[in-house]
Amino acid sequence: MESVEVVDGPTTWRLERAFFASNWTCIWGRGCCGIEDVSAPDLHRGCCSVGAQMANAEEGMHISAVAAMLDPDRFQFHAEAQANGVFRDEANTATAIVDGACIFLNRPDFAGGKGCALHLGAIDDAESPIGYKPLVCWQVPMLISETSCDDGQTEVNIRRSTRADWGPGGETMAWWCTDDDNPDAFVGEVPAVDALSDELRHLLGDRVYESARAKLLGDDHSNHTD
Ligand code: SF4
Repeated sequence: MESVEVVDGPTTWRLERAFFASNWTCIWGRGCCGIEDVSAPDLHRGCCSVGAQMANAEEGMHISAVAAMLDPDRFQFHAEAQANGVFRDEANTATAIVDGACIFLNRPDFAGGKGCALHLGAIDDAESPIGYKPLVCWQVPMLISETSCDDGQTEVNIRRSTRADWGPGGETMAWWCTDDDNPDAFVGEVPAVDALSDELRHLLGDRVYESARAKLLGDDHSNHTD
């Protein structure tokens, strides 16, 4: 996999060139077929049908706190959340599933607005959805891995997730939006590095983001790794 590389002090950032220079864009609600074994674009479940894993206990507490602030008119399963909580287990490791998808996913017929109730809450509050949603949700379909080296350096690789990254169920999914052989989600009007700019700026910081973007979209391909 070819990557562009930006060295920033003790951290070396690598971004998958083919993905971030492509015109991939999230097409949730615009043809996304979901991640189940049967293609279901009309259900608008996107990749929310399995719920969201919490990164750690702190994230579980944070999502609980955000959920408690959501306007019931914008959160379809508010009553369910009040009755049984927003997690599927007592350790709060993953969000609950209601009617085949994440408890936070408002369905297409919900009068308060379809889509992630956490995302809608952030928009209502004029805040970034990054601060309201589980990490796994705002990072998808990016996959981030970090390696600490013996010399004190840290390497961070950011690439698209693939079917293999979903584990045993990945191969049977009817569709996955980053598949190279399926053009459905490669329809953005801007490169993926721009479509995902808020998320990447949050991860990399503005200066590293701008440097990585210039290497992805510029003519100079000299600084890359294979
Ligand atoms: S990230 Fe991919 S699977 Fe998830 S909602 Fe967007 S297009 Fe669909």
